[in-house]
Parts: sequence; C-alpha cells; structure tokens
Amino acid sequence: MDIYAKIGVRQRINAAGSLTRLGGTLMPEDVLDAMRAAAGASVDMAELQEAASNVIARATGAEAGMVSTGAAAALTLGTAACLAGYNVHRMERLPDTTGMPNEVVICRQHRTGYDHAFRAAGAKLVEIGLNDRWTGSGVRGVEDWEFDAVIGPNTAAIAYTATKHDEPPLERVARLAERHKLPLIVDAAAQLPPAANLKRIIAAGATLVAFSGGKAIRGPQSTGILAGKRDLIASALLQMLDMDVAPETWAPPKLIPRDKLNGVPHHGIGRGFKAGKEEIVGLIVALERFQGIDWDAENKAVEGRFQRMAQRLGGAGFATRLIPATETGRQPWLEVAIDKTKLGLDAHGASKALQQGNPPVHISERRAAEGYLVIDPMSLNPADDATLVDRVIALARSA
Ligand SMILES: *Cc1c(COP(=O)(O)O)cnc(C)c1O
Repeated sequence: MDIYAKIGVRQRINAAGSLTRLGGTLMPEDVLDAMRAAAGASVDMAELQEAASNVIARATGAEAGMVSTGAAAALTLGTAACLAGYNVHRMERLPDTTGMPNEVVICRQHRTGYDHAFRAAGAKLVEIGLNDRWTGSGVRGVEDWEFDAVIGPNTAAIAYTATKHDEPPLERVARLAERHKLPLIVDAAAQLPPAANLKRIIAAGATLVAFSGGKAIRGPQSTGILAGKRDLIASALLQMLDMDVAPETWAPPKLIPRDKLNGVPHHGIGRGFKAGKEEIVGLIVALERFQGIDWDAENKAVEGRFQRMAQRLGGAGFATRLIPATETGRQPWLEVAIDKTKLGLDAHGASKALQQGNPPVHISERRAAEGYLVIDPMSLNPADDATLVDRVIALARSA
C-alpha cells in the first residue's frame, strides 16, 4: 500500500542527496524492524541513552555519545553543555547567558545556515578571518593569531565545520583549542561516507562532534549523534532528558555522575528535542550496519548504474561526467550538463521543470549555478533510475 497516496501526497524521486526537506534517507528494513520491536515496551530513556553511548563510543573512538534529534540539535546541545557544564543553575537559565562566558569563535568560512544551532543555546558567534580563498582575492587562510586575538575570559568554545578539505586543518585548530583549554565543537553532519570520518574527527582532537543519523547512516531522519568528552555528553544529555523526576528516587545511569551536580536539573533547553526510544534503537542498529558496509563494492555498484544512465543520456544529447568517490569525498556523482541553447532552460529552470513533473524528480542543484545538475545516489532507489533518465530525456524532447 502507498501510504502517501492514501493521504494525497506524491512520492518523489530523490537524486539530490539525503535532503531533510525531502524526508532524508531511505531506511533499510532491519532498521525499521528494530524500531518496530522497540515501540512496544517501556524503558528508562537515560539507560537507553547510556547503551547508545557505548555503541557511539566504539564507533567514533570518543569517550561517550548520545542520540539527538539530528545533527543540528546535537550542535545546540553540545553548545549548551559547553555553556553550562554541570552547573544546574546555568542549565536552568539557558538560553539566557548573561554573566557567563558565552562566545563561540568561528572562522568566517565555517559559517553555514546551520550555525543558528549554536546561537539557539544562547551563544554569541564571534567571527574571525577573511575569505580570500573563496573570493579569489588572496591566498591566505585563517591564522592562529586571529583566534588568539579574540579568545578571552568570555570564550566558551570554538566551532568548526568539517569539509572534504578541512581548512584550516582540524588538527591545528584542535591544538589551539587545547592550548586555550577550550572545547572544540565540530559539525560533521554530512561528512559520511567515508566511514573513516566516524573516528577521524575525534582522533584529530575534536572535543565534540555532530553527525546526522538520517543521512548516509540511514537511521531515522530525525536522529543525530553527539560524541565526545564524557562530561560534556552527560551535560548535554541532562539538558535533553525529561527531568520530571523526584529527587528522592531519581537514579540516573553511570554516564550521569550525580555527585558532580549541585542539584537535580529541571527540564533543560533541549527538552523540546526529545529522541524517542524507537529512534534511538533505530540509530544504534543503523550505525552498526553502516560500519559493516563495503564502500568499494557499494561505489562500484553505483558507478555501474551511472554508466547505464550516462549511456542513455548521452544518446539523447546530454553531456555527462561520472565523478568518482575519490573526487567527491563521498559517493560517486553523475554530473549532467544542462545546455541552455539546446534546452531553452538553464540548470535551475530544468530542475524546476523536473520537480514539477510527474513523478516529481529532484536532482542536486549544488552546481546549478555553473550549469550542471548532479545525480547523487544517496537516497535514489535503483528501481527509479530508468524513470529519472526518462524524465530528463523528456526535457530535451519538449524543448
Ligand atoms: C545536514 C546538516 C546539518 C543538519 O543535520 P540534521 O541531522 O538534519 O539536523 C548540519 N550541518 C551540516 C553541515 C549539514 O549538512
């Protein structure tokens, strides 16, 4: 049964990546089975998060971890942990950070639409560096003195957005954070695959790292991972868990050291980000499954699909280029050139037509400004490959 058709919603072909606005990933059957099995019983959510912590710690090499409701929520909770630590009064006050260190230092080229997540905890972003490499106006990246100049008694953390190139190098920023005794929070939401990034970021010196659960890990769309130092994970977890507890009977798991708390926290800033038991279990199973994937074999299969698609597209006059995983840093992509003089549409125009067609087709617009649509296999069901190609070829026919 098509549940979506039943409620009047169209299914879409997604070759744009595991985009949240298209529902994220396509969950594997074993993850769904685990979620169904988890739904029918009551558990202590803190105990469940402690079990998740053990799985995440093994996967990432971090001391501890927790399941959040997405990487963005993980960034907010990680920031809240850096701001409040185990101070119950500070937990209670967030996002009001009056009178406490609240500045999070971030390089200008690491600002993204997701950095609202840091600010949501009550932090104030302090931007450093110029953007010479991006604008082509110069050759220099951010230098250590630029961090040193703004770090002071009001600094609570350094934020870092991981990319394929990691500029400035993560190891260097980690050393600098350590020198200043500051936590380093890394947004690595979409830096999987390669699976090696699960461990690499902590190994490079990140204090906390956020990954999406609903992208390549193929867990529930509304999950994420926060991994890192045990004390910060415990603080973050306390600020998310339901805290309607009687102090007389509250029995938190070992992950939460009650003796380090000067009281029992009320509901924290993350109370609205609650991860459900089904989602936590789903993420655990998906994470273990993800670690078992043979990416060479996976990428070879994708390349085979792309070669077949490229052949048909080429026959219809579309120039394509298969970009290997070594170049994308993730999975292989198939770039399709949109020739405006032939189609009468530029890449955004072609994308809009595809999205509004039947069935609606989404191809990544990440390079549309340069005249290309990019087929991303992450959330593309192989059964839809042929229809996707039909729809692109139909664009040329109607031109
Ligand atoms: C996707 C993404 C996020 C948000 O992840 P969610 O799991 O959807 O909350 C944050 N940062 C970056 C760089 C991302 O790509």
